[in-house]
Amino acid sequence: MTLKKPPIHPPIEAGESPLFYLKRLALLNHYDSHTWLYKNAEDRVSRNLSQLVDYLTEEDWTKQAEQDEAALRIFQLENFHLVKKARFCPICISEDKIWRATWHLKTSVTCVKHEVNLVDVCTTCCADTDLFKAKLHECVCGAPYGVQSTVRASKQLLELQRFIEDGAVPEQNREQLMPADHELTLEERVSLVSLFSRLTPNHDVKKTGTSTKLNSMQQALDALQDVARGLLGGKAMFIALLGVLQKMGGKGHKVDQLTIFYRSFYKEAKKACFQRYKDVLEAEITKRSVYATKRNSLFSEETINGNVWLPLKVASKEYSVAVSKLRLATKEGLIACDRQKKGGRTFSLIYRPHLETRLSFLLEQLNATEAAILLGVTKSQMQLMCNSGVFLSAVPPEPGRCSHWRIAKSEIVEYLKSLTPKKVKLMPKSILLPVAMKKYGGDIPNLFLTILQECRVGNLLSYLDDEALGIRGLVLCHRDLISLIKRITPDHHISATRMAGKLQLHPEFMSQLVKHKLIKSYETDNNSDERVIPLEFAHKFKTRFVIGAKLANVLEMSPRDLYRHLAELGIMPFDHDKNYKLRSKLYQRYQFVDAPMIYAYVRNLLDWNDVSF
Ligand SMILES: [Zn+2]
Ligand SMILES: [Zn+2]
Repeated sequence: MTLKKPPIHPPIEAGESPLFYLKRLALLNHYDSHTWLYKNAEDRVSRNLSQLVDYLTEEDWTKQAEQDEAALRIFQLENFHLVKKARFCPICISEDKIWRATWHLKTSVTCVKHEVNLVDVCTTCCADTDLFKAKLHECVCGAPYGVQSTVRASKQLLELQRFIEDGAVPEQNREQLMPADHELTLEERVSLVSLFSRLTPNHDVKKTGTSTKLNSMQQALDALQDVARGLLGGKAMFIALLGVLQKMGGKGHKVDQLTIFYRSFYKEAKKACFQRYKDVLEAEITKRSVYATKRNSLFSEETINGNVWLPLKVASKEYSVAVSKLRLATKEGLIACDRQKKGGRTFSLIYRPHLETRLSFLLEQLNATEAAILLGVTKSQMQLMCNSGVFLSAVPPEPGRCSHWRIAKSEIVEYLKSLTPKKVKLMPKSILLPVAMKKYGGDIPNLFLTILQECRVGNLLSYLDDEALGIRGLVLCHRDLISLIKRITPDHHISATRMAGKLQLHPEFMSQLVKHKLIKSYETDNNSDERVIPLEFAHKFKTRFVIGAKLANVLEMSPRDLYRHLAELGIMPFDHDKNYKLRSKLYQRYQFVDAPMIYAYVRNLLDWNDVSF
C-alpha cells in the first residue's frame, strides 16, 4: 500500500483523471499538496501516471479497480502521447468539478460534452497550467478555472475528438474513408492522429520543428484542423491534404513530404480498415509522380518574406475565394484572423500561411450557390437535391455556425458525369431538361429528381449538350421521358379518344378542348397525333368546367332555354370572347354563383352525374 487513506475519501468518478483525483482528495482533506497522500516520498509519481493508476487500484476505497477501461488505457500509452501542460474544459470544471482523464492526451483539444476548445493557458494572467503544480479549481493568479473564457469548437475538431475518445466515425457515406467498424484501439487511433499531425505543415513559418506540434493547445488546435479534415473529412479532403504534402516538397531532405507520409502511413496503417485510404493514396501518388518536385512550393514569396497578414477582401481577390467562405474558415479556426480597428472601422486581417496551405480545403467545399452554378440548376432545385440526400458529402446548415449547405466539389463533378452513363449524341427526338420541366414539371411531383435518377441508372437516355451548362444543358430522349412519365403515374393515362368516350363528349369537341389546352394532355411516344391525358387532368377539367348540354339534361330543361336564361343573368359561354368557337357550350363553374337557382346543382357537380368516373 503506497497511499494513505485520508479521512474524507470519496471514490474516483467515472472518467476522472487519477492525478486530479488525488488533488481533489488533498483539497477535501485540507492538505497543502496531493503529495501528502503518499506514504513515502520516494514513491511520488512525477511523470509516470500509469504507476499512479496502479497505486490507486491497490486501494479498495478509491474504487479505481471499477474504473472504465477506456480511461485506464490512456495512461498505458507512451509518455510522449500525454501532455505536460494541463488542459481542461472550463465548463466541465465549473459544472462537474472533476478533471477528465482524456485531457491528458496531447491529441485531445475539445470537450465533446460542451463543444468548446480545451484551455491550457490562464485567460486572465496568461500563465501556463503545469500538470503537477496546477490547482484543482483556480490558477496561481486566483482566477477560477471554471470561469475562463471558452471558444466554440469546430465541427471537424469535435468529430476528431469523438474518434480519438471512443472510435466514433462521422456519418458513413461514399466519401468517408474510415469504416465505422474499424476496430482501431485507442493507442492506434492516437498514433494515427499523431502521425498525421507530425507531417502536416507548420504554419508558424519561422519555426521548423514539427515534433512539438501537439504540446501546446495553440499549436495542437492548428495542427489538428488539418488532421481532422485529412483523416475523417472524406475522400476529397484526404486528396486535398495529399496535395498540401506534395507542395511541401523535401525541405532539404532527400525525400519529399508526400513520400515520407506514404512510407509512414504504410508502416502505421496495417489493418484492413485503411484500404480506402490506400486506394486513394496509390492513385494520387501515381498521378503526382509525373510532376513530382522536391522544392517546397507550399508558401508564396510574400509568406516567406514575413508578409503574413493580409486584409480579408484582398485575400478574397488574390486567392479567388468568396469572402463568405473566408469568414466561415476564420470562424472554424481554420484560418487565423486578427481584427483591427482603424478610424472607427474594423478590419479583418487573415493569416496568409493558413490560407496558402488550406486553400484546397476551402475550394473543395462549395456552398449551395456555388454548387448550383457548377451543376447548372436553380436555387430551389439545389435545395431539393440537398434535402433529398442526393449528395452524400452535403453538410446541412448549422445554426450559429454556417447558414447554408456545403457540398464537396469533387462530388458535384462526379455527379454531373454520372448523369450520362451511356455515350450517345444522337436520339430520334430530344428535349432539354429545363424545357421538359416547364412542360410536365408542374403536374408531376418530384419529376426533376426522378428524371435525374433515371438518367443515372440508364433508363432515360441523355447527354450533356455543353458541360459548362451542367444540368441546364442536359438533353433527354423524349420517347424515354414520356414512357417514364407514364411509368411514374401508372394507370392514370388514357388516350384522348377514350377520354371523349368516358366523358361522353363529341370527339371533335374533345379535340378542340385538347387543342386549346382546356384539358391538358401529352403527346405519345409512337409519333402519331394521338395524345394521352392523365386521369387527374380529366378530374381537373370536370371541376373547372360545366358543359351546358349536360347541365340542361340534369335540370330537365331544353339546352336553348338554359343558355338564354344564363345569358340573361350575364353568364356567357367560355368562347364568347375567344377567337375560336367551341362545338358545345362550355361554362366555368365559378360563373354560376350568379345563378342562385342552379348553383346548388353546379356546386355539387351534378352536371357530371351520368359520367361514371
Ligand atoms: Zn466540458
Ligand atoms: Zn491566471
